[in-house]
Amino acid sequence: MKVNSSLCDICGTCVAVCPVDAIRVSEFCVHIEMDVCTQCGNCLQVCPARAITVEGDAS
Ligand code: SF4
Ligand code: SF4
Repeated sequence: MKVNSSLCDICGTCVAVCPVDAIRVSEFCVHIEMDVCTQCGNCLQVCPARAITVEGDAS
């Protein structure tokens, strides 16, 4: 999972849906802890700004 900082408006929606609490909010963007992330895809689906993408996704 990767967050595009230029698209993210720090709405916090992704943070609320992460079941493993892998998303941290910083001053200018959100950061996903990939050690913790289970790649469930929740954040990807709810982001209104479509700022989250699957890193290395070939599709
Ligand atoms: S893919 Fe799932 S586990 Fe990973 S950061 Fe998003 S909501 Fe959390
Ligand atoms: S849901 Fe999208 S726009 Fe909102 S904080 Fe998360 S990455 Fe940023």
